[in-house]
Amino acid sequence: MKRFSAVVLVTSLAWTLALPSPPWAQPKRVVTIASGAVDGVYFPIAGLMSRIASDAKDLNVRAVVASSGGAIANVQLIRAGEADFALVQNDVAYYAFNGVALEAFVGKPVKSMAGVFTVYPELVHIVATQASGVKSIRDLKGKRVVLGPIGSGTEQNALQILGAHGIGEPDLRVAARLPFTTAAEQLRSGLADAAFFTTALGAPAVADALESGKLTLVGVARAATETLERNYPFYTSGEIPANTYKGQERAVAVPAVMAMLVAHARLPDDLVYRFTRAVFDNLPQLHAAHPAARSLTLQTALVGMPLPLHPGAERFFREKGIAR
Ligand code: GLU
Repeated sequence: MKRFSAVVLVTSLAWTLALPSPPWAQPKRVVTIASGAVDGVYFPIAGLMSRIASDAKDLNVRAVVASSGGAIANVQLIRAGEADFALVQNDVAYYAFNGVALEAFVGKPVKSMAGVFTVYPELVHIVATQASGVKSIRDLKGKRVVLGPIGSGTEQNALQILGAHGIGEPDLRVAARLPFTTAAEQLRSGLADAAFFTTALGAPAVADALESGKLTLVGVARAATETLERNYPFYTSGEIPANTYKGQERAVAVPAVMAMLVAHARLPDDLVYRFTRAVFDNLPQLHAAHPAARSLTLQTALVGMPLPLHPGAERFFREKGIAR
């Protein structure tokens, strides 16, 4: 009885002093989701995930979004313990976890990262000015090319695709690393001849650039994509369907990867389980963040998953009967 009145007293004190919660309540854990640049598609998707997580009563977290250069930067944030979750490309996640292919990870595998689910396909968009006369990847030799933002997966895809055509960085007149929006501006103003964007179909940065009508999408020949698929296991043959962008009359064949969510391996299983459940319980909200997110369903959630799952995610998908 005494105990009871003490509790009542403290509760009412808390209310009187307008404290946010009674002292014995668990404080909300801050969870950081590393996204990408604010002009990309990772950013709004991570924003929606953070809202869903913060609203989930059983999670008791305040999720915040950290912007970054993209997939490589996000893996580094996980490695440094500065992010709890991150959106990354599945190819980059694979190289990082296994310590292969990319300079940042060779001999330095990132084992503190676990898979949660794959989200949507990302297509390697290669946009060139019509004035440059660039019609194929080989034509990029001697041109001013934006490879992607610093710390992005895009930059790595650009270098690998050029490499598959025997083109190295020194063969380009200019090899620039710039954010998506700046790359689009440079294309529009003729300061760059071509730029790479590994991002969702319909990404605003690409759509804005192609709006001008003076730019064109460049395809990657099937044979080159097959070589890439052999050398780098997570490329698939993708297609930018006709009329995705203004004035785009034909479908364009390009390599594709998957955007995915990773978690820091040290995160409690229960937290990752509840986070994953909250996302899948609120799919319509996520689908509204960007049309690309509509391809995320329970059935597709493990397609292209390159990492061992976090035990929390594993429990969720096992319960749902989704096998890898
Ligand atoms: N795939 C991207 C990268 O790391 C980010 C794309 C986006 O945010 O839309 O290069």
